Amino acid sequence: MNVYDSARMTDVLRPLGYAPTDAVEEADMVILNTCHIRERAAEKVFSELGRLRKIGEERKAAGFGKTVIAVAGCVAQAEGEEILARAPYVDIVLGPQTYHRLPEMVARAARAGQAVIDTDFPVETKFDFLPDTAAPQTAGNLTAFLTVQEGCDKFCSFCVVPYTRGAETSRPVASVMAEARRMVDSGVREITLLGQNVNAYHGDDGRGTAATLASLAAELAQIPGLDRIRYTTSHPRDVDTSLIDAHRDNAALMPFLHLPVQSGSDKILKAMNRGHTAGEYREIVRRLREARPDLALSSDFIVGHPGETDADFEATMQLVRDIGFAQAFSFKYSPRPGTPAAGQPFQIDEAVKDARLQALQALLREQQDAFNADMVGRTLPVLFTGVGRKPGQLAGRSPYLQPVHVEGPESLIGQTVPALITQRFTNSLGGALTRERACA
Ligand code: SAH
Ligand code: SF4
Repeated sequence: MNVYDSARMTDVLRPLGYAPTDAVEEADMVILNTCHIRERAAEKVFSELGRLRKIGEERKAAGFGKTVIAVAGCVAQAEGEEILARAPYVDIVLGPQTYHRLPEMVARAARAGQAVIDTDFPVETKFDFLPDTAAPQTAGNLTAFLTVQEGCDKFCSFCVVPYTRGAETSRPVASVMAEARRMVDSGVREITLLGQNVNAYHGDDGRGTAATLASLAAELAQIPGLDRIRYTTSHPRDVDTSLIDAHRDNAALMPFLHLPVQSGSDKILKAMNRGHTAGEYREIVRRLREARPDLALSSDFIVGHPGETDADFEATMQLVRDIGFAQAFSFKYSPRPGTPAAGQPFQIDEAVKDARLQALQALLREQQDAFNADMVGRTLPVLFTGVGRKPGQLAGRSPYLQPVHVEGPESLIGQTVPALITQRFTNSLGGALTRERACA
């Protein structure tokens, strides 16, 4: 979501004459778009700010103008005042809901010569104020992110999102459709719909009723040229029958689903306030696989939530063994200020968290390797997104987001064509075009 937000910030700043650069030393303004989800991510902000201050000083000494430093995103939202106290050279602090006001903040910071802070949850929605002439952030891209839902009302014990991103909201269908059409017109072939709980989507459908993620995906699938639709992150509690059916009926919906479970222990799921049991998660997965037999799953796990015993952890391992994941993200529980779990008794030792994380990651790695190995000998539709590193090579991605390399003509870039998978590497697959395509 931060990638999407950064792109939209680029859009709002373009009319002011700003353009992106890869070299931070060249930048007149640097925006750190931050994440607050785990402690490590938040800490990085302060070390990065120190580095930027030095670069700013060097630029000044070399006769360039001032480097404007802005901190955006969820660390700004949660710790705005602390940022200004610890790093008084920061010029702008803006939360994730106010980046449409960035031009005004830049002007104010220049005028006032002092820090501007805007961490409101404004009544107007930023999406109504962002430029919509084209989709410049995706120009030349074949894949793109599109935020359709934001915020969260679920208040899991460990999570800062409801505090930093605010209450759950959905963009109206018309607004999403318009942005998707602009993306496809600029060449995008695959869109990933984004939301903190994307399948809680309930945008206004223009007829006075609420859409569902399934109905939105069905409408998107009608856009000529849009080959693939994905969505992330979904919550087990919001997987309804319409979404399960969509995986059977909507051919554009990719058979790869990120469905975080966090833990396999009912006791811990309850302590986490997840609102479902391990059994309910298994049942959802069973129904999804029944609807779409080639569906592969990805998930998020937290080890070491307060109160997690060896038996609870073993329940997580057993759930992983039973379900089998194609890919996963796993984290050590990280206490976040202001969240209920941070103040709970029975915090888990760092060493225990480390050991559990290692064991879980070893199992998940094994499953991912087995999943990738299983691709060899199969023919997969591959969306080619560019050239590979070797001459004559094309790079693309499979339905399961695996990078795939084949030899083939550049004319296939932007198309989805079948490739026979012949090789498996650590993080990618090698293959060959089926004969008629190789001559295209
Ligand atoms: N809305 C999604 C998750 C969004 S946060 C869901 O409910 O599934 C992304 C992931 O970060 C979470 O799934 C969780 O695994 C991890 N995470 C969030 N807070 C964390 C914390 N305090 N410590 C460790 N991991 C955390
Ligand atoms: Fe955080 Fe996801 Fe829980 Fe919401 S549902 S509080 S975003 S972990």
